[in-house]
Amino acid sequence: MAGTYEQLLDATIQHLEDLKSRGVRHFAVSSETFRALAQPVQTISAAAQQPAQISQPMTAPKISTPGPSPKPAELLLALPDEAPALDPRPSTLDKVAAFAALRERALACVKCPHLASSRKSVVFGVGSIDAQLMFVGEAPGADEDEQGEPFVGKAGQVLTKIIQATGLKRADVYIANILKCRPDTPGQSAGNRKPTSDEMATCIPYLHEQIDLIRPKVIVALGATAVDGLLGKTLGITKLRGTWKTYRGTPLMPTYHPAYLLRNQAMSEKRKVWEDMLAVMKKLEMPISEKQRNYFLKA
Ligand code: URA
Repeated sequence: MAGTYEQLLDATIQHLEDLKSRGVRHFAVSSETFRALAQPVQTISAAAQQPAQISQPMTAPKISTPGPSPKPAELLLALPDEAPALDPRPSTLDKVAAFAALRERALACVKCPHLASSRKSVVFGVGSIDAQLMFVGEAPGADEDEQGEPFVGKAGQVLTKIIQATGLKRADVYIANILKCRPDTPGQSAGNRKPTSDEMATCIPYLHEQIDLIRPKVIVALGATAVDGLLGKTLGITKLRGTWKTYRGTPLMPTYHPAYLLRNQAMSEKRKVWEDMLAVMKKLEMPISEKQRNYFLKA
């Protein structure tokens, strides 16, 4: 089984090195993942045959990338003092490897030749693969295409503020889009366009696989395209937002896209999105302070 272990280790190291090369210095990992990574090789290999069992605490410990050039294996197996060395959940190694493999496939995708030839990056997704909360947007814009990370432009800054207002950080959640490539805009020097239904149908299997691996407790669909992509064409976002839906058994909250909040700065619209997030926090049994409850209410 050493071969299987080596394969998993290689995929894990590749994933971590890739994150590091993109400037990621910390990311959230569940305590189960930590414990699994700290197990001796044979324990992992033997237990890797067991079925998946992943529990997902909302606040997970952080791995800090250590200082002077650690060997990748040392990086992986470093165990912080506070993490109890108990009960390995080696299936999380399978999850890390499967996620890395999925990412590699998406990064090499040329199923939409027009997008593959115009893109700078495949914007796969960012965050914790153990996240309880996952946000799904529409498609990368110019900033995301440039940086290879979803929601880093102006709308992304709004999303980051929304996440932080709940008490979480971007690294605690997972963020992805319906489309992994920026919709091309031939002949246009600026602006974005909506994904076509063909592009959505072609790309959505990657998102389905991401959700299947992460298994978030709640999905927030940002805007009409995200809702249509995940649930099929339904009512408009104005009617849908704030009402719980289900995506393959997972509670899904439709809300406005952060770009809408940039276009419409009314306090009432911010409050609507915030009410949707309060419902999400309640569903996740997160603590809600009086101050949080009252955000964006008129004085
Ligand atoms: N809008 C989206 O829907 N996704 C992004 O990643 C950025 C902007």
